[in-house]
Amino acid sequence: MAQVGRRTDSVQERTRLDTLERLALLYTPAEESFDRITRLAARVMRTPVAALAVLGEDRLWFKSRHGLQVNEVPRDDALVSGALGSAGPFVVRDALADGGLARSSLVVNAPYARFFASLAVRAPDGARIGVLCAVDGEPREASPEDLSLLRDLVAVAEGELHRRQLTFRQGDMIRELGEARRRSMVDPLTRVWNRAGLDAILAREGGAARTHGLPLSVAMIDLDHFKGVNDRFGHGVGDIVLAEVARRLRVAARPVDSVARFGGEEFVVVLPDCNEADARAVAERLRRRVGDSPIVVGQAARIPVTCSVGVATLQADETSDVMLTRADIALYDAKSDGRDRVVVAPPSVRRPGGG
Ligand code: GH3
Ligand code: MG
Ligand code: MG
Repeated sequence: MAQVGRRTDSVQERTRLDTLERLALLYTPAEESFDRITRLAARVMRTPVAALAVLGEDRLWFKSRHGLQVNEVPRDDALVSGALGSAGPFVVRDALADGGLARSSLVVNAPYARFFASLAVRAPDGARIGVLCAVDGEPREASPEDLSLLRDLVAVAEGELHRRQLTFRQGDMIRELGEARRRSMVDPLTRVWNRAGLDAILAREGGAARTHGLPLSVAMIDLDHFKGVNDRFGHGVGDIVLAEVARRLRVAARPVDSVARFGGEEFVVVLPDCNEADARAVAERLRRRVGDSPIVVGQAARIPVTCSVGVATLQADETSDVMLTRADIALYDAKSDGRDRVVVAPPSVRRPGGG
C-alpha cells in the first residue's frame, strides 16, 4: 500500500513539474503582472516583504519578490515545508518561538522572518505549484480580513497564470531553453535575462528570423553618467536604480521582446519581428520610459536618470553578434551626440577610414 502511495505521489509530482514547465514560469525573468500582486500583498498585509514563490524539483524559487533579495530556498526548509504542506492559510506568529521553524534559512538569514503568512497558489489544472507569502521581521498576528485579502490576491495570481498561459508569447522560447539552463540565465539583481540568456535568445531569434524571413532588431541601452549616481548616493542605491531601470524597460517593451542585462549599467532589448522603423519607435519608448520620472529611493533620494540607445536591425548577411556590434557603435554615437537619445546604426559596420 505504502509502495503504491509513493508511486502515486511521484506520478503526481511528475505531472506537477510538467505543468510547471508548460507554464514556463520557473527560473524566468520577473514579470510586472506578478510584481504588481506581491506589491499589493505587502501593502495589504502591512509587511515589508511579500513574494510569489514557485516550487521546483528541489527548491522554492521566487518568481516575484518585494522587499526580498533572496532568489530561492531549499524545498526541505522548515518554513517552506510548513507552507506547502498546509491546505489552508499557513500563519506563523513568531517563527523564533518554534524550535523547528527557527532553523529555517528565511529566519536565520535575511529577511530574518518572524511573522510568516502564506496561501497555496494553484496552476490552471489545479496542481499546487507554489505560495503567495507575506513576511515580517517582527512577530504579529494575521486578522481574518488580512487573510481574506491575501486569498483574493491568490485568486488574482491564479487568474493571471491562466491568462498568461493563453497569451504568453515567450513560452516556446523559454521552454526551448530548458529549466536546467535557465537557472543560470536570470540576473539576480535586475531579474532580467543575463548575458548567457541574451546569447541564447539571440541565437534562437536570429535563426527564427532567417527561417521565416522576418526582421529582427536590438536596442542597446546605457545609462547616462551612472558613475555620478554611485559617487553621489553609493553603490547600494546605484543597484536599486539599476533594478528599477530594468523594471521600466520590461514595462515599456512589447510582450514579445526580451530584456537582458548586457553588463554593468547596460541593457539589451531583443526585438523580434521588428524592422528598423518599428525598432526606432520602440527604442524611443524605452528611452522615454526610463527617464520619464526620477527614481525614488528611500525617503530622501529622487534620482533623475536618462539613457542613450543604439539600435540595429539584422542584415541578410550578418550574424546577430555583428548586429549587436553595430548597435554598440550606434550607442557610442548617441553618447557623443549628447546622450539621452536614440541613434539607429547604418546597415554595415563602418571600417576605420570610412566606408
Ligand atoms: P556614460 O555612460 O554616460 O558615458 O557615463 P557613465 O558614468 O555611465 O560611464 P561608464 O559606463 O563608464 O560607467 C558605468 C558605471 O556603472 C561604472 C560602474 O561603477 C557602474 N556599475 C557597473 N555595474 C554596476 C552595478 O552592478 N552596480 C552599481 N551600483 N554600479 C555599477
Ligand atoms: Mg553609462
Ligand atoms: Mg556603460
